[in-house]
This record gives sequence, structure tokens and C-alpha cells, in this order.
Amino acid sequence: AIPILAIVIVFALSYIAKYIIKSKDFEYQYQLATIDGLTELYNHRYFQDTLRNQIEISKRYNQDFSLIIIDVDFFKKFNDTWGHACGDFVLKTVAKIIKDSTREQDIASRYGGEEFTLMLPNTSKEDALAVAERIRSEIEKTDFCYEGQHMKVTISIGCSLYDSKENPVSSPKELVEQADKALYVSKRNGRNRVSFATKEIISNTEVTN
Ligand code: GH3
Ligand code: MG
Ligand code: MG
Repeated sequence: AIPILAIVIVFALSYIAKYIIKSKDFEYQYQLATIDGLTELYNHRYFQDTLRNQIEISKRYNQDFSLIIIDVDFFKKFNDTWGHACGDFVLKTVAKIIKDSTREQDIASRYGGEEFTLMLPNTSKEDALAVAERIRSEIEKTDFCYEGQHMKVTISIGCSLYDSKENPVSSPKELVEQADKALYVSKRNGRNRVSFATKEIISNTEVTN
């Protein structure tokens, strides 16, 4: 009986080991598919999928939610002046400040390049603007220090609101475009500021950045 028991135990242990390795591999693959390698925020694809789901949820339960788009001001100059690695450092630090300023259920993503998005489920316009302003001011007062070089960084922000009655957008693209138009207004008005996608801004057909 002892050798048989030993064989059974060996089989059981090897099965468990295989299972653990497989689930670790799945976890790794999932992370690769959803997380941005540089900033460790969610990536563009995850953001788009989640935004689509959030619109469906908000439609069904009549909830509002806010979308924030963040763009680093004059980011190109950090690359051009102190090199690409310094630019990467700025992106990572901005991403950390965004992440640290949000709640567990908020989705912070790297939209691409030096642009970030923040999805705030069940959040009103006023609360979204307060979050956006907090992030803006936190970045403005942070001393970005890279290899002894102190730098000032600012961001411009655009916010839009999914509102099942006032602004029931039908696609993720529409809500992103609205936030983008508000971001453009922040840029045009001098950068380092927050703008909200009002009806006037949304209906403006001027080309955005
Ligand atoms: P604005 O205030 O109008 O937003 O100006 P900007 O310089 O921030 O915008 P612009 O679009 O001209 O430049 C964005 C730069 O971001 C250009 C691109 O080379 C750089 N970039 C994009 N992705 C990365 C990255 O992963 N790392 C680094 N270091 N730079 C990146
Ligand atoms: Mg940009
Ligand atoms: Mg920029």
C-alpha cells in the first residue's frame, strides 16, 4: 500500500504544481494584454473595453459617470532637452500621481504617448472637476527630479460626463471626443487648467488637437 500511496501523492503534487504554473502564466498573459508596460496603468485597449461596458451599465441603471483626459503640457521639450529616458521618468511620475489620487473603482489608463484617461464611475460633474483639479495642482507643485535635474511639469485636462438624460452618448468614441474638445479648450486658454465639455464646447466643430 505504501508504494501505491507514494505514487498517488506524487501524481497529486505534480497536478497541483501544473495548475499553479498555468494560472501564473494566465495572470502574466492577462497583465501583458491589459497593462501599459511603462506606467503600469491600464492600456488603451482595456480602457476602450471598460468604457464601452461602463456606458452600458450607466444606461441600464441610470447612473452618471465622468471621463477625464489628461495631456502633459509641452512634453516634447523634456525628451528634446534631457533625453527620452527623462521623458519616460516624467510619464511614470505623472502616472503615479494620477493613480494615487484616485479610488479603487476608478480606472486610470495610458491613452497613448503623453495622454492619460481617468474613468470615474458613478461620479457627478462637480466631483470629477474636483478630482481633476486635485491632480492638476498636485502635479504643478511636485518637484520632478531626474538625475539631479529639477523640472516643473504641468498638465491640461478635459472632462466629459455621461448623463443618461442630458448627455446619453451612444458610443465610447463620442464621450472621448467631448473630453478631447474640453482638453483643447484648456490648451487654447493657456494650458495647466481643467475644462468641462459644456454643450457649447461639444457643439463646437473646430478641429481639436
Ligand atoms: P502640448 O502642450 O500641445 O501637448 O505639446 P506636447 O509637446 O506635449 O505634444 P506633442 O504631441 O508635440 O508631443 C508629444 C511627444 O510625446 C512626442 C513623442 O515623441 C513623445 N512620446 C510619446 N510616447 C512617448 C514615450 O513613451 N516616452 C517618451 N519619452 N516620449 C514619448
Ligand atoms: Mg498629446
Ligand atoms: Mg502634450
